Amino acid sequence: SEEQFVCIGCGVKIQTEKPEEMGYAPQSALQKEAIICQRCFRLKHYNEVQDVSLTDDDFLKILNEIGQSDALIVKIVDIFDFNGSWLPGLHRFVGNNKILLVGNKVDLLPKSVKTNKLINWMKQESKQLGLKPEEVFLVSAAKGHFITEVAAAIDQYREGKNVYVVGCTNVGKSTFINRILKEVTGEGDVITTSHFPGTTLDIIEIPLSDGKALVDTPGIINHHQMAHYVDKRDLKVITPKKEVKPKVYQLNEGQTLFFGGLARFDYISGGRSSFVCHFSNEINIHRTKMEKADELYQNHAGEMLTPPRKEQMDTFPELVRHEFTIKEPKTDIVFSGLGWITVNEAGAKVAAYVPKGVHALVRKSLI
Ligand code: GDP
Repeated sequence: SEEQFVCIGCGVKIQTEKPEEMGYAPQSALQKEAIICQRCFRLKHYNEVQDVSLTDDDFLKILNEIGQSDALIVKIVDIFDFNGSWLPGLHRFVGNNKILLVGNKVDLLPKSVKTNKLINWMKQESKQLGLKPEEVFLVSAAKGHFITEVAAAIDQYREGKNVYVVGCTNVGKSTFINRILKEVTGEGDVITTSHFPGTTLDIIEIPLSDGKALVDTPGIINHHQMAHYVDKRDLKVITPKKEVKPKVYQLNEGQTLFFGGLARFDYISGGRSSFVCHFSNEINIHRTKMEKADELYQNHAGEMLTPPRKEQMDTFPELVRHEFTIKEPKTDIVFSGLGWITVNEAGAKVAAYVPKGVHALVRKSLI
């Protein structure tokens, strides 16, 4: 019988027959000690993300399978990109299965954010999006914060069943599972994490002590994520690496802020006021006059207003304008996947611009 090889990069089963399908590696690669699939090879050597055949259809199949099994579902979202990393279809498939919602990357939040407010907001938002989790957690998979609590909850709610871990790409699902494994089995780094979205492939089953399994499902690419409109070299610019440092802007009405060339904020009316920006410390904030903003974007998106890069401008989606009137003091305007601006006073009229397909929304401030 033929020996079964797996890719050391993503864990997919290696096959040598169909170059366009998942897990392909040329025959010659099998001679090597560490076998890597073509997709991971390209990623590693050419920094190039290959389209794979984990289509939306494949993902629906996985959701269907989850819906039909009697299991606990652990859904992971990136709290810095809550709406962008939400899996919109999931609630239609869960059936009677219980769900734990885990917000990851809590280490990136500024100290001023009140975590119980964020948890409450996540609960309300989930309900509106059609999902009723048993409990909501905030964790840092990278730093290991609150992992013990989640591991205990998983054990409590699974009632001897399998556990499916779901989440879209780049939410930190692999990092989270590795942490849980350390907690459960004492081992480290069983799954490879990657610096690029979309690299966890295939279903990985991790045996639990009672013969059941923790199942890592592939992360689906969520087309609403800002990350997909950014060149992979610029991901590090928009993705905070460290705790976000709030930046305060005193604005007069008629002033505009650009966040690179990825988003724009217009302060339309309300008198001189302060706006607290919560974005990756690397992102360039450019202040200008509202009346000049369109022209500035036309002429400088891709250079002074970057990312996106110049060579991307042909395909970069247009910025779409969303107007909001701030009804309550301390309201956040959220640019999904990029950050948010806290508006301190009620009555302000503002507009948020995001690439077509990306969400812009308001919420009660988390501070
Ligand atoms: P997956 O695609 O969902 O499996 O995500 P990964 O586990 O590969 O993580 C995606 C990116 O998020 C990587 O750059 C990780 O270093 C980063 N990451 C994961 N967990 C955390 C976290 O708790 N905090 C921070 N700041 N970054 C994280």
